[in-house]
Amino acid sequence: MNSIIFSENASVDLTAVLSGIKYSSIFILTDENTKEHCLPIVEEVFPSNSIFYSIDPGEKNKTIATCMKIWAAMTEAQLDRKALFLNIGGGVLGDMGGFCASIYKRGIRFINMPTTLLSQVDASVGGKLGVDFEGLKNHLGVFNEPETVIVASQFLKTLPEKEIRSGYAEIIKHGLIRDKQYFESLDFDHWQDSYWAPLIHHSVEIKKSVVEADPKEAGLRKILNFGHTIGHAFETYFLDGPRHLLHGEAIAVGMICEAWLSHKKLDLSMAELKQIQDAFLKVYGKIEIQESDLAPVLDFCLQDKKNEGKELMFSLLSSIGDCTYNIPVTRQEILEAIHYYQ
Ligand code: NAD
Ligand code: ZN
Repeated sequence: MNSIIFSENASVDLTAVLSGIKYSSIFILTDENTKEHCLPIVEEVFPSNSIFYSIDPGEKNKTIATCMKIWAAMTEAQLDRKALFLNIGGGVLGDMGGFCASIYKRGIRFINMPTTLLSQVDASVGGKLGVDFEGLKNHLGVFNEPETVIVASQFLKTLPEKEIRSGYAEIIKHGLIRDKQYFESLDFDHWQDSYWAPLIHHSVEIKKSVVEADPKEAGLRKILNFGHTIGHAFETYFLDGPRHLLHGEAIAVGMICEAWLSHKKLDLSMAELKQIQDAFLKVYGKIEIQESDLAPVLDFCLQDKKNEGKELMFSLLSSIGDCTYNIPVTRQEILEAIHYYQ
């Protein structure tokens, strides 16, 4: 597992990291938003021969077409195998930049500076890299670890509130699957800048402990998918329309539905189901789902790549803080779970 630095000053820690690595040149990848808001925080650190490259932001650009532009820029800059690649951005940029670095000349070293709450608590750990392909999320990719991850909560100051809320869903998930006390310590009503740093630290510890026990998702790592089978279906269904949901908003709906399944199929108590539901409704409000949405969402669920064979396998809670994987769920039960949310 790569080293993770929890930084109070990104510029100081990046300087220290770079001084400890021998490299020929450094290629810095940003998107148009992180170029404006995050790059200035660390810009003075880079040597004069550094190469800066910026892409358009957003999931819709997490494609091979964008990778080809990045690889072309790397080639034009004549990066050799001793070059260093630095990602400054959210999960889209980190997944794609890490992938580009891993493929170029059979792999050059890369460093991640995640700048969204979601990428700091989730995408920064675990070595999954890649891009979307033909409408399928993360369809092309590799497992590979960055040299170092520098997690600096100072970047979050410019992150839009909606994006903060999206990342919060993964923090809440970490409590639900592994740590009841953590879940119960969370504030679902209000938060300020200083609220995040300790949560990021604890969430990364939780994700790291799960990933270290099962790096390639043979078993235990599947608990990180709690809320994601139904959540991804909502995310994909609403992707291009006016009701577009961010990842965290979609998995919040997914976690309520899957908490209901946990109550029905495992021992999750009604009291805990209500506790979970109240938490998510406080943070995200109620997302309107119409009767006509049900069939297509169910279809997207059945296509979820994490399903083995024909059986739908879910990770469900037996209580808050305790998650079990490989629980078979029928199509009818999924439908009832979505009805429950509705
Ligand atoms: P993102 O990278 O699209 O960032 C969200 C938005 O915030 C973008 O518009 C970005 O330009 C902007 N932004 C980023 N940092 C900013 C800052 N500090 N100030 C102002 N604006 C800023 O999205 P995300 O939510 O970070 O990540 C989602 C992606 O992460 C998905 O593609 C998902 O598949 C991936 N992901 C990967 C893993 C993994 O294990 N590899 C885990 C979870 C999610
Ligand atoms: Zn997620």
